[in-house]
Amino acid sequence: MTATVPREGQLWSRCGGCATLLYRKRLRRNLDVCPECGAHARLAAPERLLQLVDPGSFTVLPDRPAEIDPIGFVDLLPYPHRLTAARAGTGLAEAVVCGTATIGRHPCALAVMDFRFLGGSLGCVVGELITRAAERALTDGVPLVLVTASGGARMQEGALSLMQMATVSQAIAALREDGLLTVSVLTDPTYGGVAASFATNTDVVLAESGARMGFAGPRVIRQVTGRELPEGFQTADFLLRHGQVDMVVPRHALRGRLVALLAAARAGRRPASRPGVPRQEPSPLVARPADGQSAATPVGDAWETVRLARHPGRPTTLDYLETAFDGFVELHGDRLGADCPAVVGGLARLDGRPVMVIGHQKGHTTAELVGRNFGMASPAGHRKALRLMRLAARLGLPVVTLVDTPGADPGVSAEEQGQAAAIADNILALTVLPTPVVAVITGEGGSGGALALAVADRVLMLQHAVYSVISPEGCAAILWPDRGAAPQAARALRLTAPDLCRLGIVDDLVPEPAPGAHHDPEAAARALREAVLAHLLPLLDVPPATLVRRRRQRFRRFGAARLGARAGAR
Ligand SMILES: [Zn+2]
Repeated sequence: MTATVPREGQLWSRCGGCATLLYRKRLRRNLDVCPECGAHARLAAPERLLQLVDPGSFTVLPDRPAEIDPIGFVDLLPYPHRLTAARAGTGLAEAVVCGTATIGRHPCALAVMDFRFLGGSLGCVVGELITRAAERALTDGVPLVLVTASGGARMQEGALSLMQMATVSQAIAALREDGLLTVSVLTDPTYGGVAASFATNTDVVLAESGARMGFAGPRVIRQVTGRELPEGFQTADFLLRHGQVDMVVPRHALRGRLVALLAAARAGRRPASRPGVPRQEPSPLVARPADGQSAATPVGDAWETVRLARHPGRPTTLDYLETAFDGFVELHGDRLGADCPAVVGGLARLDGRPVMVIGHQKGHTTAELVGRNFGMASPAGHRKALRLMRLAARLGLPVVTLVDTPGADPGVSAEEQGQAAAIADNILALTVLPTPVVAVITGEGGSGGALALAVADRVLMLQHAVYSVISPEGCAAILWPDRGAAPQAARALRLTAPDLCRLGIVDDLVPEPAPGAHHDPEAAARALREAVLAHLLPLLDVPPATLVRRRRQRFRRFGAARLGARAGAR
C-alpha cells in the first residue's frame, strides 16, 4: 500500500495498491485516495495542508531553518549534498512545514512532515521548527496538530538528532501543563524516533487509514527475529486493535475529525484562565567545551571504542549496584502484566544518601545475555522504569540511571505492546520529573532505547562508552554499500564521549582504568561513584521547579539556531 506521491505534470498515475491507471485530476479530487481500491497515496506536506486547513488560513511560521551539518557527516556523499538534493526535489526547505491556521474556524498551530524530504527524518532543524510550532501554540493558547511521516531520526546528524525527541517532547509537556490539546495524525509511514516521541505522546492519536507506525521497521524486525511478520503488522488497524491509537480515520474524514476535536477542546477551555505564559529563557549560545579532565582523557578510534563499549567483561548495572552503591533493594514489575529482565531498578544508597537507580542490564555470559535480552528493554521495561521514576519523585529521591543498551527491543510483541509509545512516555515524563536526574552512559547508548533513560539534568559518559542515534552496522547497511563499512560509519556518527562532550550532549566524561572498565571493574566503579556524586550533590538543593526549567533549557538548546550559529563559525 505504499503508493508514491504522483509527480506534477503527469496526466495519469498508477495506484500503488491495485496498479490501476488513474486520471490524475480524478485522483486529486478524491484526495489522492484510489477510487478503485481505497489505497491512500502519500501526500506532500503542501497538499496535506490544502486538504486539512480552511482555505487561505495557513500562515507559515517566520523562522527560516539554518543550514547545518553539525557533525560534518560524510558517507558516500557529504550530508549538505543530500540536503541540497532534497530541497531541489521537494521545493521545501526541510522535512516539515509549520505554521498557524484555522480548521473549521478553530485556530491551531500545525506541523506537517513530508516523507519525500530525506524520509521525513528528524534532524535538528525539524526538531527546532516543530518545537517552535508548539511554543507558538502555547503563546497563542491554541491546540497543536502534528501530522507525522518519518522513517525516524536523521542519522547524518548523529546523537543531536536523538536529542530532538526530548526537545519536542518537552514542548508538548508544556502544552499539556497548560491544558492545551495536542493531536497527532499518523500517516504512512511513521517510524523510529518520531514514533517514539511526539507521534505518540500527544493527547489524541489518529491514524490515517493504511498508515503504518512502529518503533522498529519491518525490515529490521524480520532481520533480528528471523520470523515472518503477522498479516497487517503495524498497520492502522493493528494499532487500533492493540490499543495504541484512538481511531483510524479515512482521509476524507480527517478534516472533520480534527474540527470536532478542536471544537471540543475550545468549548472545554475556560476563558481568561491564562495569566502570562512563561517564556523560554534565551538559550545560551556558547558551545560547551569538554569539561576539565575530559579534554585530556584519550579515547581511541571510534570503532575501537564501540568494541570496548560492547566488551562482555564490562561492568553491568547490577555490578555497579553491587560496587558503587550500597543496600540495593530491587523493585520489579510494570504493574500491567510483566517484568522486563533487561531493565533493573530499585532503591539504593550512594555515599549514604538514598537514591533510585534504574538501568539496563546486560550480562557477561551468553546465558546471562540471552536471559536479559541483551539489555534491550521491552515496553514493560520502559513502563517499569517510568513507575520507578515517578515513585522517586513522590518520595523526593534523586534518580540515577545507568544506560547500556544496543537499543530498545525490536521484536513483534514489543511492537504489539506499544514500544514507541512506551519510550515516548518516558521521555516526556523525564522532561518534567520534579527530582534530580543524573544519567550515566556506561556502555552502549543505543538510540531511543537509551534516551528513554537519559533525559537528565546531567548526562555523564564513561570514557569508552558510545552514544548514538543508530548502530554503526545499521548506519552502514543504509548509507554504505555493505555492513563492512561499520568502522567508517562509527567515525562519521561522532559517537564517542569526547565528541559528545564537544556537542554539549554529554556534560562530563568518567575516566576508565586502562585499557577499559573490564580490566578493573572496582576502579571503574569508584570513578563512576565519584562522578555521580560530584554532579548529583549540587542538584539536591535546587528547587524542583528550577530543576525542571533548567533541564528543559538543557534540551531546548539542541535546537538548530545554536547549531546554525556554530556551523557558521566552522
Ligand atoms: Zn487502487
